[in-house]
This record gives sequence, C-alpha cells and structure tokens, in this order.
Amino acid sequence: MILTDPALKIERVEHSRISEVDFNNIPFGRIFSDHMLVCDYVDGEWQDAVIQPYQNLSLSPACSGLHYGQSIFEGMKANRDMETGEILLFRPDENAKRLYDSAQRMCMPPFDPQLFVHCLKELINLDRNWVPNQEDSALYIRPLMFANDNYIGVKAAYNYKLVIFTSPVGAYYAAPVKVWIEDRYVRAFPGGTGDVKAAGNYGPTLYPAKLAKKRGYDQILWTDAYEHKYVEEIGTMNVFFQIDGKVYTPKLESSILPGITRESVMQLIREEGVEVIEKRLSVDEIFAACEKGTLQDAFGTGTAATISHIANLGYKEFDHELPPIAERTLSNKIKQQLEDIKRGRTADVNGWIVRV
Ligand SMILES: *Cc1c(COP(=O)(O)O)cnc(C)c1O
Repeated sequence: MILTDPALKIERVEHSRISEVDFNNIPFGRIFSDHMLVCDYVDGEWQDAVIQPYQNLSLSPACSGLHYGQSIFEGMKANRDMETGEILLFRPDENAKRLYDSAQRMCMPPFDPQLFVHCLKELINLDRNWVPNQEDSALYIRPLMFANDNYIGVKAAYNYKLVIFTSPVGAYYAAPVKVWIEDRYVRAFPGGTGDVKAAGNYGPTLYPAKLAKKRGYDQILWTDAYEHKYVEEIGTMNVFFQIDGKVYTPKLESSILPGITRESVMQLIREEGVEVIEKRLSVDEIFAACEKGTLQDAFGTGTAATISHIANLGYKEFDHELPPIAERTLSNKIKQQLEDIKRGRTADVNGWIVRV
C-alpha cells in the first residue's frame, strides 16, 4: 500500500483564529493552529486524509485506544528561515519512519512514510502563518495515532485514527537540569516498548518524577530494569557524557528511544573530530569520573530543547555538581550548529532540511 499521490481533501476554516494569538507571549502547548489533518483506517486500509478546521474529536467511551494503550505519537518542529521566510522541517522522514516502527510494535497499521511527509507538508503550508516569525520560536507538530474500535475486548483493533495538529511555541529557554539517577522505578525494560513512542511509556514515569521533584530534581535519568546499574535516558531526552575528552552515550537497546537529535548530535560531534562511543555506561563509571574530576559535561538531547545541559547528578545519597555551562565548549558549539541548521542560518550539508 504505497500511496504517493493521494487525494488530500482540504476544508479551510472560515475565519482564522490567528489574530487572537500574541506570538510574543505564547503559553506552551495550549494554542493550536487553524487546521489539523485526520486520516481514518477503516475496512483494512487508510482512507483519504482530510485537512479540516482544528476541532474536538468525537469518540465512544469504548474507544479501544483509551483502554488498552494502542496509541503512539511523534514530536517535531517547523522553524522559520528569518532571511527567506521559508519554513524548515528537520529530518521529517525520520519521524515518519519512527511512527511506522512504533505502529508495527504496537500492532497498528503503519502509515506510509512518504505519504506522511506529503500530508505534513500540506498541513504546514496551509497554516504557514502560524509558524512564528520570532527568533527562536517554532511550530510544534504533534502526530498522534490510536486504535478507535468501539469494543471493550483486549485485541488489536480494526479501526484507527491518525491526527496531526500543530501548536506555536515560544523561545525555549533550556535551563540546566538537575537530574536524579533512578534506582527504584523503571521506565522501560528489555523486550518492552521503550524503543518506540508508545503513549503507555509516559504515564508510569509521572509518579517517580513527582518523587524526584520532591527531592529537588527536575528530571529522572532512568537506569536499566534488571540491575539499575546502567544509565539509559532522561524523560524525553537521550543522554550524553563527556569524560576526559571523549563523548559517551548509551548504545541503543529495546529500552531506549532512538532519538533523531541523538543521531544528529553524534554525527556533528564526530565531524568535529571528537570520538563518540556508544556503549552500556554504568553509574559507577560516571561517578568514578566525577571523583577523578574528568566528567566535563553531561547533557540531554531531544526535539524540544535540542541540547539541555545537566547541572547536577543526584544518586542515592550523592549529589555531584557539573562544571559551569560556559566551560562546556563542545556541547555549546554543537547546540548552536544544530539550531543554525534547523533555522537555515548555516548550510545544510547533511541534507537534513525539508523546505515548505
Ligand atoms: C522523543 C523522545 C526522545 C528524543 O527523540 P528526538 O527524536 O530527538 O526528539 C528521547 N527519549 C524519549 C523517551 C522520547 O520520547
């Protein structure tokens, strides 16, 4: 089922809501653009996609995706090139591929990646005025797919819905985060669904996150489910450590989400001539480096903040403070490079940008 030139029906809003939005003061994740894309999977195939006015969905209380968690999502951003006014998407084909992989893992009908990017470009083009003109602001894009049978038995559904909607977001100031290394709760486990963006991966993290907050930490650094010995990732970010010049990141396993930012950051660091090592990285190794004074940097990577520096690492009764952000030359440079690529301020030599 490869539909490369699908019928895409477009129903425009009569009156845009854009004049009601103060783009200099946007609350995160609460303002939604004029249109959304909806596509239903019925009778064994994805039907024609429709772009329609942003509106509530009507669901049965028996909507199966709500009960048993056959639900997946994606997260990406569109940025404006301030020179040309064009809109830039960063590696949208990678998000399309990951949505495909998530669907397969969750026994849902995958959506053709090429068609996904096509639909996405149409939606962004229609709502292009919603991509903020402000420096460092962006249009956040949320694709969501869920099972939609009106049936309360546990089984793979027959009907699914794909929705893509967008939300303008203001400049994201990524304050350095205090990170708690978790040694009791787990986010994901071998053979589970940690390596896909399944909705069910996130709810169970909220309670441990609340406990970490009480201790004074902003985010959790998850460790492996068997021994709580190896670090995995932070909240919705992959994690990197710079020790004695070299950069380390946990190697991908079934409990780790393959971040697109992770992949891009690894490539940019290697282009700087710095070695990046993907391996199982133990808490012991990290704290040994803290003691020797060789832990130079630690940071998370993800679409939201690109690179988020770690200020402190808390573990059991220990708390280690990392070097000042200004001294983290490599990650500061990579963050700037990646932001510049995403906003068209520097040449896109890796072919990561899709222009709308
Ligand atoms: C989305 C996500 C990431 C980061 O992925 P990007 O593609 O870089 O945005 C990392 N970890 C988890 C658990 C995530 O959900």
